[in-house]
Amino acid sequence: MLIIKNVSLNLTYKYHSVHLFLIMQFNLQKEKPTCNCGVFGIFGSHTASLETYYGLHALQHRGQEACGIVTMNLGKRGKPVFISHKGEGLVTEVFDDHEIFQNKLVGQVAIGHNRYSTTGSAQSIKNIQPFTVNYRLGNLAVAHNGNLTNAKQIREELVNEGAIFQTTSDTEVILHLIARSRLEDQVDQIKEAIQKIEGAFSLILMTDDKLIAARDPYGFRPMVIGKLNDAYIITSETCAFDLLSAEFIREVNPGEIVVIDEEVLSTGEIKSYQFTEVQPAKKHCIFEYIYFSRPDSFIFGHNVDKMRRRLGKALARNHPVLNEDEEKVIVISVPDSSNTTALGYQTELEKLGVNCRLEIGLIRSHYIGRTFIQPGQTNREIGVKIKFNTVKGVLEGRTVVMVDDSIVRGTTSKQIVKLIRDANPKSIHLRISSSPITHPCFYGMDFPSKEELIAHNFNSDIKEMAKYLGVDSLEYLTSDEMLEAVSEAGKENFCYACFSGKYPTEVDLDFKKEIYEL
Ligand code: SF4
Repeated sequence: MLIIKNVSLNLTYKYHSVHLFLIMQFNLQKEKPTCNCGVFGIFGSHTASLETYYGLHALQHRGQEACGIVTMNLGKRGKPVFISHKGEGLVTEVFDDHEIFQNKLVGQVAIGHNRYSTTGSAQSIKNIQPFTVNYRLGNLAVAHNGNLTNAKQIREELVNEGAIFQTTSDTEVILHLIARSRLEDQVDQIKEAIQKIEGAFSLILMTDDKLIAARDPYGFRPMVIGKLNDAYIITSETCAFDLLSAEFIREVNPGEIVVIDEEVLSTGEIKSYQFTEVQPAKKHCIFEYIYFSRPDSFIFGHNVDKMRRRLGKALARNHPVLNEDEEKVIVISVPDSSNTTALGYQTELEKLGVNCRLEIGLIRSHYIGRTFIQPGQTNREIGVKIKFNTVKGVLEGRTVVMVDDSIVRGTTSKQIVKLIRDANPKSIHLRISSSPITHPCFYGMDFPSKEELIAHNFNSDIKEMAKYLGVDSLEYLTSDEMLEAVSEAGKENFCYACFSGKYPTEVDLDFKKEIYEL
């Protein structure tokens, strides 16, 4: 939902009168659960930092607050040196000068990170990844996607033993654990460290001579391996390969450590180690299919587009809107995130014999950024109007089905419904391709507190929620219907704890992300 950042006052003189404006920055991605981060690493390319930049560009949807790239280059006397460039903002804003790639971020190995903070203060520049340290065995850099569920305990233990933390991020405990290891091999040290952490992690690490990736035993977050000419790439989603014309090789398996070094470049054999003694059942985040990953990515063994369509089809089969008056039913999406789902919904509805058509009923502006509003306007209302407008001719007098992937707080959905209502449709039916969100996520997706969730507040009473949102009918997929829709990837292979409260690992239900704040 809409979060308003950086509210400041500006005095503007116009025609000799003083107008007071509020400068609002709408972070539109936060209307939905914000997740996670995007990670990217490459080994063996003369233009490693540039490829990392393109990779992060493709992964921008996974985090828009900040980003960074670290490269490994040989300095004077052939000593490896890590060079980093990081900043707040989008990839194109932080890397806005080609000199950065030509003269600063040189080297054949690079890792990068797009950040959306799920732990650690979003405001602290120190929390921008990749993090780098220099320790007993050389340099080390890390980029992390996911959330550690036992970081607080580990951090407390380490602090009690004298460790000094530089950031407020859960990721930093990983560096401390590696640096404190008494083992002599870096891969062994990493293995030892990640056996102590719990929760969700898709990690990319860079040492003086290796690119290393590790994925938690449950495989909550996606992670894939690819090849670009002779270089190897490890990243969050395959859409990063497509932008670079790189070839997809395989996914990093849950509980696996992958090592790429010079030997791998010459033999072509990726080094792989399993770090779990007993491999638990996979628990991929179902939200990656519902909303988070890009539809053009291939993750968890399947195309996201296919799974998203299936969710839309399941929604139509289980919760169709019929054309009782024989007039065409108009199906619309809430662009862009539910476009594919709406396509699936309409195709299936037609198959069921309902006379229907997919239409573009909402137009989304992609050019918002910082926006000025006058005092007196309802912030949320103007925010939604700046972002969306209706195509009135498409909606007027029609039975309209609006397909969306999820509802978090419900405040933006309510405003969108109001916009559609202003276009005078006959009726509005809201269909949601997931179950009601009732619980927080501890694995890297940032939902608001339980008390802010619409489903929690209405005790999942769908009729009451429909009244609040102002729609003629509202239907969600049930958890069973949702899991059935993605069953090709194995129903039991998914985490759906935010819909059910059934967490696959032990979690601290009193956890608040502020506990890391220094
Ligand atoms: S709790 Fe929800 S958002 Fe978090 S990993 Fe599980 S399914 Fe994904």
